[in-house]
Amino acid sequence: MISFDEAEKIVRDVPPMTTTERISLSDSLFHVLAEDIIADMNMPPFNKSAVDGFACRREDLNKPLKCTETIAAGSSSTSLVTEGNCSRIMTGAEVPGGADCVIMLEDTQINSEGHILFSAGKTSTNICYFAEDVKKGEKLLPAGTLLKPRHIPVLASMGYALPKVFTKPTLGIICTGNELVDPLQKPSIGQIRNSNGPQLEAQCKEIKIKTENFGIIPDSREQLANAIKLSVSKNVVSIVSGGVSVGDFDYAPEIIKELGFTIHFHGLNVKPGKRILFASKNERYIFGLPGNPVSALVQFEMLVKPLLLKLQSCAEISGVEKRTLSEEYSIKNSSRMSFVPIVSSPDGTVKTTEYHGSAHIFVFASANGFMKVPEGINKIEKGSLVDVRLI
Ligand code: AMP
Ligand code: MG
Repeated sequence: MISFDEAEKIVRDVPPMTTTERISLSDSLFHVLAEDIIADMNMPPFNKSAVDGFACRREDLNKPLKCTETIAAGSSSTSLVTEGNCSRIMTGAEVPGGADCVIMLEDTQINSEGHILFSAGKTSTNICYFAEDVKKGEKLLPAGTLLKPRHIPVLASMGYALPKVFTKPTLGIICTGNELVDPLQKPSIGQIRNSNGPQLEAQCKEIKIKTENFGIIPDSREQLANAIKLSVSKNVVSIVSGGVSVGDFDYAPEIIKELGFTIHFHGLNVKPGKRILFASKNERYIFGLPGNPVSALVQFEMLVKPLLLKLQSCAEISGVEKRTLSEEYSIKNSSRMSFVPIVSSPDGTVKTTEYHGSAHIFVFASANGFMKVPEGINKIEKGSLVDVRLI
């Protein structure tokens, strides 16, 4: 039995896959960059009007102005703005030479001679200056960034239409247990619907990992061995949900050993998920997750997801945040480190909720995260900062 922190370190020390590929920008969401994103141009590339209005000299704002041209977005000025003159200009167009401000259309009137009068008391410059946002050659994103929607416009603006990303590991899901039935079925006595399979698939989808589902495998040594063999032959990572404990029909650990895998841990001083197993052989990995649904959910987030991100050389793989506990929390048995479901409030604080243990998956219908309660701690005061993982 090792500590959770040691297990986390073992998983994070796995060497990343080094293969990369170029994919289309539209497919790049939740892939990990394998190249730095460098600005190929200044932004803005010229002094740009921030509004629709008239480009003029600030010192002329008290005079009627003669409009000498119209500059649309996408076109440049052909002449300089001189004393007493202005150019009609659209948002995004280049501010002509000679002008040092753009007055908004809404701040102007036209007099009987067709001249422009500035009708507001004061105005901002309304110019986005050359290179004020980005300088050519600047590093905008480092390799190792997990691409989120907010990163996509950065790549698009700098012409990264085919970004280089790390190849994603694929993942096989095997759920085992004689009592399991498909969610389509009504369980008869002693049966339970397979919730881990769809949940693990969804957790993979969230970080765009392709899964192969091997369905429900009965507690048969032969059938489980065949499923594990097939999954590891086709996938970088395989998850066996259930059958990894010490029960009479928990065949997974033996099978994994017989396949020549090195078992890095099988047993953590953690709750839930004590019987979790992690093994590897020739850059293929197997996680055996305890069948209890809360264990499967929490341990996927805390150990499997970090492995999947590490294999892609992702720079940020923790996802743990500090939050303030809004109510005192106490736990009777603190012999193991615990992950306890929490509900986070809009004000950023968190509190625990009614929770009956690792089979109580329904807690996550409302709980939107879990907090780490270190081993040996029986009470956490209201107002304390706690380590939280939001899901
Ligand atoms: P095991 O790890 O096989 O001993 O299973 C522990 C508990 O988790 C048992 O009560 C199982 O019925 C339940 N369980 C196992 N696999 C699943 C699954 N795929 N979905 C929901 N519950 C499961
Ligand atoms: Mg079982």
